[in-house]
Amino acid sequence: NREWHLLSRPVGWPKPEDFALVETETRTPGEGQVLVRNKYLSVDPYMRGRMSAAKSYVAPFELGKVMQGGAVGEVVESNAEGFAVGDHVLHFGGWREYATIDTKGAVKVDPDLAPLSTYLGVLGMTGLTAYAGLLRTASFKEGDSVFVSGAAGAVGSQVGQIAKLKGASRVIGSAGSDEKVKLLVEEYGFDAAFNYKNGPVSQQLREAAPDGVDVYFDNVGGEHLEAAIGSLNERGRIAICGMISVYNSTEPAPGPKNLGRLIQTRGRIEGFLVGDHYDLQPEFVREVGAWVASGELKYRETVVEGIENNLEAFLGQLRGDNTGKMIVKL
Ligand code: NDP
Repeated sequence: NREWHLLSRPVGWPKPEDFALVETETRTPGEGQVLVRNKYLSVDPYMRGRMSAAKSYVAPFELGKVMQGGAVGEVVESNAEGFAVGDHVLHFGGWREYATIDTKGAVKVDPDLAPLSTYLGVLGMTGLTAYAGLLRTASFKEGDSVFVSGAAGAVGSQVGQIAKLKGASRVIGSAGSDEKVKLLVEEYGFDAAFNYKNGPVSQQLREAAPDGVDVYFDNVGGEHLEAAIGSLNERGRIAICGMISVYNSTEPAPGPKNLGRLIQTRGRIEGFLVGDHYDLQPEFVREVGAWVASGELKYRETVVEGIENNLEAFLGQLRGDNTGKMIVKL
């Protein structure tokens, strides 16, 4: 078994020396456990936070130990009732080829219902993040105009499309390349999109949303958040999902300078964590699963092959190498 360990806590952008791919023995499953051969691993921006020592909503990765993350694999040895060899499970023992896991923290998934990788993306954690953040935290309603940043990523591409499918009056997205912008408009049906690297976000947003925005779904923070506050309509809502623009900063994140606008607009900003919204899971799988099956909701995955490339996939995601969910295939 090969697995990734964190050796030192990165300062700024993580460096290869902060990590090691280590050879270990697999562990025979105890009572209630299974040994899983991982097939797909998830790399996610929140993992950057776990590499730091700072206390957060998930514990920091321990130095010299395997990093964890979402994974889908096949049971190769079972010591747990209800789990047979050959079953596929979604679990949290990622960043390694084999994992011995408690079945309490695993759910069975069906490879005949949907491709296994989708349980990490469009039908998994990032999909639910989009669904819950838009519909619950941002209180989206038909007729709203919606702006989403990180719009060609896993969460963002789904936010924009769900908003469209649920009757948004206008959906605007921002992303970091002209190619991604083209995809948003031509394939995902966004009404407008812009490349945030091409000019000030506030100006590009004003042009793309001349009538303002009712909902801003923030994946990025910083300049994007300030621009969205500037374009917020009366009773507008901002759901703070992530702030990827500052995950590798060594300086405190600069705050928006125009928060006072929330008074005149009676605007609302609210952060959320997908972990608080798993009660929506059945509804999410039913509704989004049907859209995926019918082709009304499209998704991309960027698939990197090989455990040895897991770290590179993670770093690539922070740089924007991915379109849609970044997945590692073993
Ligand atoms: P993505 O698939 O969106 O990948 C990250 C993307 O961020 C990159 O592709 C890149 O795209 C973009 N990016 C990187 N740096 C910057 C920057 N400086 N400014 C603007 N965009 C940048 O990842 P996810 O969909 O998994 O996650 C999206 C966001 O949602 C993250 O902030 C993440 O932390 C958050 N999240 C929050 C959850 C919660 O419970 N609150 C749960 C899951 C995710 P580009 O080429 O466009 O720059």
